[in-house]
Amino acid sequence: MVNNILEATKIINSSKYIVAVTGAGISVDSGVPTFQGTDGLWTRFGKPSLNSYSDFIKDPDKWWLKEIKYTSSPYINELRRTLELAKPNIGHKILKLMEDLGLIKMLITQNIDGLHQDVGSRNLIEIHGSRKKFRCIGCNWRKDRGENKISKIPDPCMKCGKIMKFDSVMFGEPIPKDVLNSSRDSINYADCVLSIGTSSTVRPAAGLFWIAKSQNAKLIEINISPTKLTKFCDVVIKGSTSEILPKLFDSLENH
Ligand SMILES: [Zn+2]
Repeated sequence: MVNNILEATKIINSSKYIVAVTGAGISVDSGVPTFQGTDGLWTRFGKPSLNSYSDFIKDPDKWWLKEIKYTSSPYINELRRTLELAKPNIGHKILKLMEDLGLIKMLITQNIDGLHQDVGSRNLIEIHGSRKKFRCIGCNWRKDRGENKISKIPDPCMKCGKIMKFDSVMFGEPIPKDVLNSSRDSINYADCVLSIGTSSTVRPAAGLFWIAKSQNAKLIEINISPTKLTKFCDVVIKGSTSEILPKLFDSLENH
């Protein structure tokens, strides 16, 4: 593993535009449960309705009232409780430090927990949105939701007057075009992509790795177990993100 960290260090130090892509693995040590793992939310509660977006659109007020009264499904309530308690861990902090040093130019996360934002990452694309923001269904205008507890239905969009929903992308809801386009743009610049704590199977984020690969970017994977991407990577470092990222950062500082 030491050799792999050294190899990754060499690639990172010789790259000009590094994009990091994170998934559920980086937030596990912040207490955010995964969806499909052994203790995953879907494993315990069953897979949720795949029509959540059309349910919302049919009657947004009814949907928001359920949220306000905590009468959503047990799955949603558990997700909400853990997200309210979650704090960034050393993995989130290291990625912020790498951005500060100019090593990471863009961070794309599939997580909706808002922990990269909490730790101060600035060049951040939340490709599945964030539970800590509201987004207009008409024009994609976003605002921080402020307090954790939602006590009333959010006001309509200040730009266009349409309904606001959580920024997090629901089942059946298209990924907002703005985040999709900016993710794609940053991958087009990338000469190195870090895959961090993601199974690399969920589109559209998974597709970004293949685009990067086809454009000859170097791929470095940090994950606790092998993924579909593993055999296509230039360097693979096996382990939890909160174990590996500090070691990688030490190595970067010493070379
Ligand atoms: Zn709007």
